[in-house]
Amino acid sequence: IYGFKLVKAYETIKHEAVFDVLTGIPNRRSFNERFLTEARRAVRLKSPLSVIMADIDHFKNFNDTYGHGKGDDVLSAVANTIHSTLRRPVDFCARYGGEEFILILPDTDEKGAMHIAGRILEQLQELKIEHKSSDAAKTVTLSLGIATQTRVPINYEDIVQQADKALYQAKLNGRNRFEVYREKPAADVS
Ligand code: GH3
Ligand code: MG
Ligand code: MG
Repeated sequence: IYGFKLVKAYETIKHEAVFDVLTGIPNRRSFNERFLTEARRAVRLKSPLSVIMADIDHFKNFNDTYGHGKGDDVLSAVANTIHSTLRRPVDFCARYGGEEFILILPDTDEKGAMHIAGRILEQLQELKIEHKSSDAAKTVTLSLGIATQTRVPINYEDIVQQADKALYQAKLNGRNRFEVYREKPAADVS
């Protein structure tokens, strides 16, 4: 019986090394591993690679209004929504931080990534989870930032940072939307 318990404990440890306990989707560590693999593959195949960073809008307010337990339920619901939006076996999503999620879309250009981001927003809207202390909508929403690398070889670590910048822009522009990272013009003579 002890042997059985040990096996069970080992299985749990193994699972928690890869998956986020609360939401059941892969964790940040898994993301880091997968990202390396896909970044290398994209260079090899000279194919575009897109990353989407997503962050729940006014989630602190949600916790304050409805309680941390309900907040945890929302995290699981959002994770499910994002996960179920992905269609290709190579598409990947993970819980990146507290209320942040990250997606890897191999062989996907900017247009494709925008399509996925739009679908996530739609699907989440359909859940209609009440959020009365948000100024972005009456329900729980996400802001998303998209970055795509098409020129190879490039510095792939930059994509995550660029997706984060685009996410920040989505927050500034009113939340409940996605924005795409754009290179700043080289010279602005004004
Ligand atoms: P913004 O729209 O700018 O993203 O505002 P925000 O309130 O979502 O962002 P902020 O970074 O101020 O707050 C993040 C909140 O996410 C605070 C924290 O309580 C909550 N949070 C992070 N992890 C968890 C979790 O595991 N469970 C619950 N219930 N809440 C969490
Ligand atoms: Mg955040
Ligand atoms: Mg947030």
